[in-house]
Amino acid sequence: MYSVRPDEQAAIKKNAAEINATVTTVAHDFTPADISSLKGADVLCLAQHGAIGTAEDYAKLAAIGIKHIALRITGYDIIDLKAAQANGIKVTNVPAYSPRSVGEMTLTHAMVLLRHLNESKARMLQGDFSWGGLEADEIHTLTVGIIGVGKIGSAVARLFDALGATIIANDPIHRPELSDILTYVDKDTLLKTADIVTVHTPLDDTTHHLIDADAFAKMKNTAIFLNCARGPISDTGALINALETKQIAAAGIDSIEDENGIFGDNLKGQDVPNPRLLKLLQMPNVSVSPHMAFYTKPAVENMVAIAFHDADVIAQGQISEHEVTA
Ligand code: NAD
Repeated sequence: MYSVRPDEQAAIKKNAAEINATVTTVAHDFTPADISSLKGADVLCLAQHGAIGTAEDYAKLAAIGIKHIALRITGYDIIDLKAAQANGIKVTNVPAYSPRSVGEMTLTHAMVLLRHLNESKARMLQGDFSWGGLEADEIHTLTVGIIGVGKIGSAVARLFDALGATIIANDPIHRPELSDILTYVDKDTLLKTADIVTVHTPLDDTTHHLIDADAFAKMKNTAIFLNCARGPISDTGALINALETKQIAAAGIDSIEDENGIFGDNLKGQDVPNPRLLKLLQMPNVSVSPHMAFYTKPAVENMVAIAFHDADVIAQGQISEHEVTA
């Protein structure tokens, strides 16, 4: 197991014992230089970003005995699926480790912004403990617009519904199980009507800059915009402009364009190579978290448990429901 963090060790120990597996854990990301140390291993378990090697490296992995690459993350873009398949290596991922983890972070950003906690903290740090001008709305009086109501969007809908908000949603797929708690509307209606607009689509060619200058212009000038999905779904320049020109009131983001090499890393004492992120961090009506919405105890446990479950299923010659193929 590569890229193993200390917080994963307890779950690894528990799950390894359950399936009687022998595990070696390594803190660094896997590189082809590690292949020779895999002698005797059946499964390579990864949780990292960036390609793991060339087609030739997959042949080397197979030759040393690797039969299965178990990803304990959702994204499998790091794997050359064709090369894995050509060498008889099965690949599995963890499609949903805890939609609620991201749902709760989305709710957290909404509440921080609604109650003006950043503005209040900025005042207090200056010795100003007044609260004039920081009057808040209550969530049950608001309409929440969710764009992309899949696994995470559904969790977001249930959380806001539990607090009494009115929920509207935009998604080409309508889920009958949500019909009691939300109403599907077209994207323009959602942008114009919602007090909180939150995006939960995948990032692909059709959703890149889905929320652009035009979309921000349609939102209420009291609207809060949230992106806890993938940075490039919203146009960062347009977001900054919408905040500066007061087209919208506030924003909460867990992901931003060009976050690689920044979010998740410690850059203390170094320049942060993302001026737009630095600008957003300076704004009191913006709440930022460094792509950590997934990072909860249940999510970490599920990522490890599902990877071990898949290892067990495949070792027994069965088919895992999490197998990904080219
Ligand atoms: P999902 O596939 O379960 O759901 C996505 C939904 O979006 C689907 O219902 C789909 O029909 C809909 N959709 C696709 N294109 C759309 C469009 N143009 N307009 C409206 N709806 C559209 O995905 P998920 O697991 O819920 O993940 C949602 C997002 O959250 C992804 O971008 C994922 O990468 C991100 N994510 C973020 C974190 C984090 O830590 N911040 C963790 C996990 C996932």
